[in-house]
Amino acid sequence: MSRITAVETHDIRFPTSRELDGSDAMHPDPDYSAAYLVLRTDEAGTEGHGFAFTIGRGNEVQVAALNALRPQLVGRRLDDICADPGTVYRALTADSQLRWLGPEKGVIHMAVGAAVNAVWDLAARRAGKPLWRLLAEAPPEWLAAQADLRYLEDVLPRERAVELLRAGRRDAGRRTAALLRTGYPAYTTSPGWLGYSDERLTRLARRAVADGFTQIKLKVGADLADDIRRLRAARAAVGPDIRIAIDANQRWHVRQAIEWTRALAEFAPYWIEEPTSPDDILGHAAVRRAVAPVKVASGEHAQNRVIVKQLLQAGAIDVLQLDAARVGGVNENLAVLLLAADRGIPVCPHAGGVGLCELVQHLAMFDYVALSGSTRDRAVEYVDHLHEHFTDPVRITGGHYAAPSAPGFSARMRPESLARYRYPDGEFWAADRAGRAAGGRRDTERTVETA
Ligand SMILES: [Mg+2]
Repeated sequence: MSRITAVETHDIRFPTSRELDGSDAMHPDPDYSAAYLVLRTDEAGTEGHGFAFTIGRGNEVQVAALNALRPQLVGRRLDDICADPGTVYRALTADSQLRWLGPEKGVIHMAVGAAVNAVWDLAARRAGKPLWRLLAEAPPEWLAAQADLRYLEDVLPRERAVELLRAGRRDAGRRTAALLRTGYPAYTTSPGWLGYSDERLTRLARRAVADGFTQIKLKVGADLADDIRRLRAARAAVGPDIRIAIDANQRWHVRQAIEWTRALAEFAPYWIEEPTSPDDILGHAAVRRAVAPVKVASGEHAQNRVIVKQLLQAGAIDVLQLDAARVGGVNENLAVLLLAADRGIPVCPHAGGVGLCELVQHLAMFDYVALSGSTRDRAVEYVDHLHEHFTDPVRITGGHYAAPSAPGFSARMRPESLARYRYPDGEFWAADRAGRAAGGRRDTERTVETA
């Protein structure tokens, strides 16, 4: 009987801050990082990969949280965890001592998400299917049992979840064919980082349209005059028919969010994202009421499904931006997708960072094929950074994510990338430290934009 024999963890950091890639009003210098784990087994060729995304300092804390889960993982039988990945989710979230560190929020919950996603990666590899297909072809009753509906029964009873999943399966074959043919819509944030010059913004915005994207996103919230100038440049570059979303990354208090968004209204922003604290559900609702018809989007920092429930109950958002790696993995995100489907709220998942596009495309594609059944007003965020470090990177054509065909959750990083960017002793960081000690110029890795 095959089992998990070891849990390997890695602190992986990429020096993205040196090019201001990923810079926004709250995070001006992110080094995109992954607290990465591998589930090793005694079955030849079977393993599971998962990670939590962080932005640099503190990634070692995230790795320590992964290590704390090891006793709950090692020794589990592969047949058991593949038949019911929810057993791992429930064991990790219910650990009677670890749960005090949350419960179900922050570093410990992100670690649970990484481990649970690694289990799903393993299960999908073992089934020989990409995760989106494994989910889309699973029986509705089984999926409803995998979804963590605890604390949601008041708005989403289990029978309703099964009903939504059964309804979602109608015509699934037709949507699978459409997905394989055209992919899933994407929008791009690559032009809009706060640290980019107007010239670079304009060039990348034009290229996004030429590449087939129908929506771009700009970071805002540091300086109003700058935002007005940058939005004017972006609108001039893309014309009136392309959606421009704006993202304040939690920068404002509620009144400021309303005033600032109204000041940018002449450029017809499609949504304002994370206008204020991600925990301020009623604040989001107040902003939404005040800035319509500009939509309000949030969810990438929603720490668990209960926050999502309340965002929807309070009418606080128009667009839900779930994240594959912040909550407790696939089991909790199934619940989040069910909540959104029940309310008819479009899900436009958060991605970018490192590996988030690779993961979340599977959830969006499952939702399209076998739950909401729609791509209307839905798109997965896309950022063209760091995909080369994955063995099964996302493929974008004509502004769409192509459906992954390789078995698994697309979560596996290349061994040579793990070796090079392991912090602090991987080749890149060791050379960087040596260069600085010698007083030389830092080993700056440039992000090469594809022509
Ligand atoms: Mg955002």
